[in-house]
Amino acid sequence: MQSKIEEAIDLLSKDWKIEPIIRDFVLGKRNDASDFQIKINDVIFHIPYLSVDDGYILWKCYWPDCHNCCNRQGRLPLTSSDLITISKNMKYGRVSDFIKNETNVNTWEEKGPTGNSIIMTMINLKRKSDETQAEDGTHIRCRFLDQKGYCGLHPSRPGVCYLYPFSSWLENEKGRARVHATFQFTGDCPGFYFAKSVDEMKEILTEYSKVIYDYTMSSSRTNRENFGYVSMGL
Ligand code: SF4
Ligand code: SF4
Repeated sequence: MQSKIEEAIDLLSKDWKIEPIIRDFVLGKRNDASDFQIKINDVIFHIPYLSVDDGYILWKCYWPDCHNCCNRQGRLPLTSSDLITISKNMKYGRVSDFIKNETNVNTWEEKGPTGNSIIMTMINLKRKSDETQAEDGTHIRCRFLDQKGYCGLHPSRPGVCYLYPFSSWLENEKGRARVHATFQFTGDCPGFYFAKSVDEMKEILTEYSKVIYDYTMSSSRTNRENFGYVSMGL
């Protein structure tokens, strides 16, 4: 049976040229991949390195020509800061009314950075006004995406939208919180490419390091404030 990632990348390949090396890596067909770590500002980025071809998997965004991540949105978890800014943007006087009308509370399981299982509970912004909890994690065109590819919530769109296609986590390093980030390979983004040096992505990594750091700290605060939680399973 075809995996969800394979389905997604096949769909993507109808409109975008995906390098065979990227396709193979995303589908888990490369066994020469290792983790190259680079620290930029306060974030440690984990970039895949392919030893046989001696190069890295890097990324750039094709927006506004592409808006696939908004067109095939899987889930929009909100941080406590998102709840305040987006409810204001949507003209709600009370955050509790916004939560009641515009969000679903969902629990889901994700693979963690070391392949472990992570249980997450968050308040998720509905991607269509009548979204049900059963649709959580399915791909839906986000209701805020307009015909030209612009986001109707911008600039107060959810922090997670600024983060894509990175995902991030916090680790305790000798008593200090250290933020880590890596790419999400869902098969939905045409921006990944193979390159011989990480240098050409340094500017983007620098730009994202602040976004990722702020989002990860805000996400951790959200959990501490009991708006959501993350628990590490087996
Ligand atoms: S992040 Fe990827 S999917 Fe989203 S707009 Fe950019 S290129 Fe497209
Ligand atoms: S909220 Fe905006 S940026 Fe986020 S998925 Fe929807 S349209 Fe895209």
